[in-house]
Amino acid sequence: MKKNIKIVLSLVLFTIIFYLTSRTQLNGLFINTGHFIEISENVFVSPNTSIIQAKKLQKLINQSYSRNDSVIWIKTKRNKKIIFCADNNTFYDYCPDTTLQAAFLSSPYLSHIVIGPKGFNLDVISHEMCHAELFERLGILAWFKVKFLVPVWFDEGLAMQVNFEERYNIKNLASYIKENQKELISIKSVVSYNDFFKNEDKIWFNYFASKLEVENWLSIVGKEGLIKLIESIDNFNRIEENYSYLKKHSIHKIQ
Ligand SMILES: [Zn+2]
Repeated sequence: MKKNIKIVLSLVLFTIIFYLTSRTQLNGLFINTGHFIEISENVFVSPNTSIIQAKKLQKLINQSYSRNDSVIWIKTKRNKKIIFCADNNTFYDYCPDTTLQAAFLSSPYLSHIVIGPKGFNLDVISHEMCHAELFERLGILAWFKVKFLVPVWFDEGLAMQVNFEERYNIKNLASYIKENQKELISIKSVVSYNDFFKNEDKIWFNYFASKLEVENWLSIVGKEGLIKLIESIDNFNRIEENYSYLKKHSIHKIQ
């Protein structure tokens, strides 16, 4: 009897801890059972979203799919689960990091994009959509593959290809690139998300250096090279070896 009580107490404790640590993700997982409004398949908005905002959001989502198609994926899957929160308080119920404008959340049992009121723009939505597309293309155990086989500089660098914000525009920063070449190359040693975001002053640099690295790689290997790399991750290979191999042996050259 005592043993049974111990098991029940352990289960209750586990459930409470699990809920407290995953509260925001779980809220998103069960979004369709709550008070959010589904404006199109898998796109949910908080009830205080105006009709004009909802229409604009849908337009931005469609444009983000098109941008992802043309820059990276050719055909982005139009099935992303997207949650829009029109105010910060609601956003904090769905996004574990309240400093973000939007986020792609993933775990072994869920994946979706959450957009806050400050993330209501094409660059931000396109970026998160790219993370979501990479995740989906990694198929079974995608969460494990992203966490252990894909370094942060690649995941962020790829997503930055569809972020056209001026402050990351590589064409405008030619002299900066020339002067900081060594430091820019060292981005490939930044493997974990903790290292990428730990120093606030370096976050811009990390995004920019990742973007530059992946843009350069894509210009050599092309979209075919990216598909081959994803296939190799899908087969549980770490990115690094195939990334360099594809660059060395690619016949693709950008015009
Ligand atoms: Zn990102």
